[in-house]
Amino acid sequence: TFRAWVIEKGEAGQSLALRDFDEADLMDGDVTVRVSHSGLNYKDGLAMTGKMPVVRRFPMIPGIDFAGTVEASAHPDYKAGDAVVLTGWGVGETHLGGLAERARVRGDWLVPLPDGLSPAEAMAIGTAGYTAMLSVLALERHGLTPGDGPALVTGASGGVGSVAVALLKRAGWHVIAATGRSGEAEYLKGLGAAEILEREALAGEPRPLAKERWAAGIDAVGGKVLANALAMTKSGGAIAACGNAGGMDLPSSVAPFILRGVSLLGINSVTTPQEPRREAWARLARDLDRGGLAAMTRTVSLDEAGGLAKTLLEGQVRGRTVVVIDGT
Ligand code: NAP
Repeated sequence: TFRAWVIEKGEAGQSLALRDFDEADLMDGDVTVRVSHSGLNYKDGLAMTGKMPVVRRFPMIPGIDFAGTVEASAHPDYKAGDAVVLTGWGVGETHLGGLAERARVRGDWLVPLPDGLSPAEAMAIGTAGYTAMLSVLALERHGLTPGDGPALVTGASGGVGSVAVALLKRAGWHVIAATGRSGEAEYLKGLGAAEILEREALAGEPRPLAKERWAAGIDAVGGKVLANALAMTKSGGAIAACGNAGGMDLPSSVAPFILRGVSLLGINSVTTPQEPRREAWARLARDLDRGGLAAMTRTVSLDEAGGLAKTLLEGQVRGRTVVVIDGT
């Protein structure tokens, strides 16, 4: 057996407990990993509290990402002892996840631990940081550069937001960090934000168009915040939509698209194919300032992880949270 957080569903609803889990009950997969670190992401909060039905199988081990060492492999690309990283693919939702000492997954879902990153750093980045990277890459692919104007980041104090601020700054952008937590202004400036915007400024009833303020954006929030961000995007600009921490809806109009040629770029980190996945990790390893990464990261034990689910959903967790599982 190994230790794992386990979500069960009974007549009284959903429960969460740290307990022993039988290795024989792991799901099918050709690679078994000794997990050393996992990350806490917004979706883990949803899964562990049951606030949204992201878990599709019970019992479920939550944890949508992990880093660790291959223990056994029948996959041609991996052998025992290899350091690996996993994000997405339904792990922690439909397939048993990373908040556990062991995980068994399909080797096709893994990437080798990127050169220059420790397992702890890879999970400090985690799904959130990797999604921020995919968002920056999408904006660049759209042809946008810092010369086009400022870049907005919403939900800036969260995991996706913190890494997005650091990456955009590193790429030379004038970063406008929108946050509901004014107390985090100094933290965000430390990561590279040039300006802080109160979330309130983006929370009003969206108009079809408003004064043009930024050329690019990375939005972790959705809802009115995204609608207002679109209405304030400069002609030819784009917003990468990667999150819904503020809602699933989008009360916008076609005005930004047809009158300003603004683009909305969708980001899905879960099923990104291997090549762009490795490209994003290589760029993170190359560009993400390690001091900034350390400043945005809090480390907790496996025992503490379950207790943080609710705090995460309340928007009270700053930056990223790494769960150290076996201390290696
Ligand atoms: P997180 O650390 O909890 O950050 C979310 C941030 O959003 C919070 O820190 C807060 O920032 C802001 N926020 C929270 N509740 C809000 C509300 N009701 N209204 C407006 N803003 C609110 O979560 P995360 O792990 O960075 O994930 C962020 C979002 O991206 C989530 O929706 C997550 O599901 C999504 N995501 C999507 C993908 C993908 O593949 N597309 C991958 C990873 C994450 P401030 O306090 O600074 O305002």
